[in-house]
Amino acid sequence: MEEQHQRICLVHYHEIGLKGHNRSNFEKRLVKNIEALLGGFPVVTIHRISGRLCVFLREGCDLETAVAVSDAIRGVPGVARVSCGFKCERDLEEMGQVAANALAECDEFETFKVHARRNHTDFETDSMQMNQIIGAALCKAFPEKKVKMKDPDVTVVVEVVQSSSYIYARSVRGIGGLPVGSSGKVVSLLSSGIDSPVALWKLARRGAECIGVHFSGRPQTSDASEYLVDDIAHVLEKTGCIARVYIVPFGDYQKEIALKVPPSLRIIMYRRLMFKVAEVIASRERAGALVTGESLGQVASQTLDNIRATDAAVEIPVLRPLIGSDKLEIIEAAQTLGTYEISSQDAPDCCTLFMPRSPETHAKLDQVLEAEALLPLDEWIPKIVEAADILDYRCPSFKSRIKAVVQER
Ligand code: ATP
Ligand code: MG
Repeated sequence: MEEQHQRICLVHYHEIGLKGHNRSNFEKRLVKNIEALLGGFPVVTIHRISGRLCVFLREGCDLETAVAVSDAIRGVPGVARVSCGFKCERDLEEMGQVAANALAECDEFETFKVHARRNHTDFETDSMQMNQIIGAALCKAFPEKKVKMKDPDVTVVVEVVQSSSYIYARSVRGIGGLPVGSSGKVVSLLSSGIDSPVALWKLARRGAECIGVHFSGRPQTSDASEYLVDDIAHVLEKTGCIARVYIVPFGDYQKEIALKVPPSLRIIMYRRLMFKVAEVIASRERAGALVTGESLGQVASQTLDNIRATDAAVEIPVLRPLIGSDKLEIIEAAQTLGTYEISSQDAPDCCTLFMPRSPETHAKLDQVLEAEALLPLDEWIPKIVEAADILDYRCPSFKSRIKAVVQER
């Protein structure tokens, strides 16, 4: 059939308690975030229409393009659902035809129903009547399909607004949450492992702008982990979930620590130093918290005593969104997010460097502080921060306070 109606994607969101001013900020932020991420797609404009956003696709777009746009949008924080359909006049005959076009584009289905509503009573036909009229048109167009009111395979939604109507049958769930840029900023410790990208993403999904910090074993190891982290960041960038990453060469400092600190305390010491460096970066970036991918008891260093001993290294709050998650849940999340494959590749980072045979699982803070006193941290920390490379990613709300510098490698 000849394409004649404008294709649209309707973006639904539903955060409880979105009222008044709050709601308008939420919508504006979401529009900006989606707009920036759709740069490469044939999108004409995005409008706010009564409680949802309408993305208008360029004339002549096919279904495949519309689905690609919908797939790009569904992973953006703040999006509860995306529907692919058409815009048409407020004319019942035309609406019936368009509804049939929309239904024809659904994958295998046996049963359907119509769900019509009008936002303006200036349209004389009420929703019950619309259901009947459009339902009859669909029964005529699809005589072999059945109408089912409860749990049909497909629901054809018809929404009549002030000057037009929107009709869709294809609809997918989004990831929910809040638009990035609506909940402040965090600094997230990002290894190339499975857990930390998921932890970062959880904060982004709650609306935080995320800045990653990766500690590389360079120059004591290769820079392979840095490339994996960059690959991971590019996956997160697709949905606007990461603003920048600091790549911190850490190998020489680990070597020094390994020379001066008893083997059992090394890991705690590396981690305390990582936290302290991340805290300085957070203060430069005006971020309100650190984030890690730790999950209780997952490995020897992730005990309550060790969490206490590392947290005591900094004043800034440390958030651990995966603390109660099982590894399998985290793996599933990483697979959905698209970082799992990258994270499964092996690359030496600072974690594999100078590891003791039996790390302390219940570090005592006084012993830790005693050992740490042997290290010239005040001299080290500014040097470590200075030596970091800064990589930037597309995050529409992020306002850079520090220029990105990538140093010669
Ligand atoms: P992940 O899968 O995230 O690497 P893990 O199971 O390997 O986690 P640990 O090595 O104990 O666990 O690391 C715990 C957390 O410390 C990580 O989730 C991450 O937030 C942080 N972290 C570990 N290594 C690094 C690193 N090289 N650079 C930055 N952060 C790191
Ligand atoms: Mg790891």
